[in-house]
Parts: sequence; structure tokens; C-alpha cells
Amino acid sequence: MPARRLIFLGPPGSGKGTQATRLAERNGWVQLSSGDALRRERKEGSEIGRKAAQYMDAGTLVPDDVITGVMLAAVDKLPSGSGFILDGFPRTVPQAQSLDGGLKQRKLRIDAVVDFRLADEEIVRRIVERRVCQSCQATYNLSFLPPRVPGKCDKCGGGLIQRPDDHREVVVTRLETYKAQTAPLVEYYSQRGLLSAVDSSTGADAVEAQVSRIVDAAGRG
Ligand code: AMP
Repeated sequence: MPARRLIFLGPPGSGKGTQATRLAERNGWVQLSSGDALRRERKEGSEIGRKAAQYMDAGTLVPDDVITGVMLAAVDKLPSGSGFILDGFPRTVPQAQSLDGGLKQRKLRIDAVVDFRLADEEIVRRIVERRVCQSCQATYNLSFLPPRVPGKCDKCGGGLIQRPDDHREVVVTRLETYKAQTAPLVEYYSQRGLLSAVDSSTGADAVEAQVSRIVDAAGRG
């Protein structure tokens, strides 16, 4: 498929990261996950990582200018003409406005925004069962996507951990943060005619099929 530039929107645990990985791998596009970018900054001990840490641990959002800088810098590192999926960014209306401005300057535009919808109880259940590879960030779920060998990543053999912010207490704050600060983006992108919703309660393969239909249609538009 020709290169597409997409935004994946949705609460934590709604499957947007898993689907971004699948779609990017299938098409040779790049997944730009804001959460992974910040976790990398923290691992490296950079100033951005130090600034972001307190917010991430509390389940609140890092300041708009910090994350916007990180994400536009990531876009600038891509070879020209690359397809990409913004996964977890933007998460506030000011971030979306800065992204619009930044993309315009670079003569790029978003082709479609996919909104992943899932009920709160299911979100909490999925997140507390989520495990992540320390080395390659691949994601598993103890119930419906377990690793072949317990505690080990299928892809690289790395150790699987529970993210500190995937503990139940922090998840509740992350969900509240999503509703207060990120949910308004549904309206923002609907008004621009870019938004399509998927029902994330179906299995990963069924969600993938829904996403593919949306992305195909965006290509024809
Ligand atoms: P995630 O892996 O997408 O759930 O992100 C983990 C944490 O990183 C979030 O709880 C926020 O603290 C921070 N974060 C990720 N993306 C953003 C963003 N677009 N704006 C602000 N904070 C973010």
C-alpha cells in the first residue's frame, strides 16, 4: 500500500499499540509510539527523560511542548516519503494543533485517524494483565496473547515485565486523564473529517481487519 500517515487514538490498553505494530510491519511503515519514545529517554537518563518521569509514574501527561518536540524530531528522522503511525500522540488539543502546524511546515498531512473504543472494565483488565519485553517493547497479555515461554519474549528472548504504570492504581488515573484531556480529540478530528472508530472488544485479528478497511478507504479518498 502507498505510504500513509495515520494517528491511532484511544485509551491505554485499547490495542492501538498492537495494531500500530502490525500495520507498520505489514506495510513497511514506521510506528512512532510517544510512550516508547519517553521510556527510551528515561532509560538513557536524558533531560527530557528526567522531566517526563514524575508525570509518567503518576499516570498524568508530560507537558505538551516536551512531547511535541520529541515527536516532531522523530518525524524529522524518517526518510522522506515514509509512512508512519503516531501511536499515543497527540493526546491533547494543544498537541494536535502543534502537530497540524508542524506537519504543514514539513508539507505533510494526516490521512486518517483511527479511534480504538473499549469499555473501561475491559481496559483495566487488559492493562493489569499486560506484559512488555524489556528489550524490544513487544507486548503480551497473560490471558489472550501469552508468550510461548512464560516470562520470555517470543521475538527476542528478552525478559517480560509489568510496566510500573500498568498497576491498577495508576491505570485508574491514566483512564481519567484520557477522558479529561484526550477524548476531546475525537471531536477535533471528526470535525476535520478524518476520524473512524473501531470496536476494540473483538479479537486482535478482527480489529486488524477493521483497521485495514479504514486505511484502504483513506487511501482512495
Ligand atoms: P503510553 O505508553 O502511551 O501509555 O504512555 C505512557 C506515559 O507516557 C503516559 O501515561 C504519559 O505520562 C506519557 N505520554 C505518552 N504520550 C504522551 C503524550 N502524547 N502527551 C503527554 N504524555 C504522554
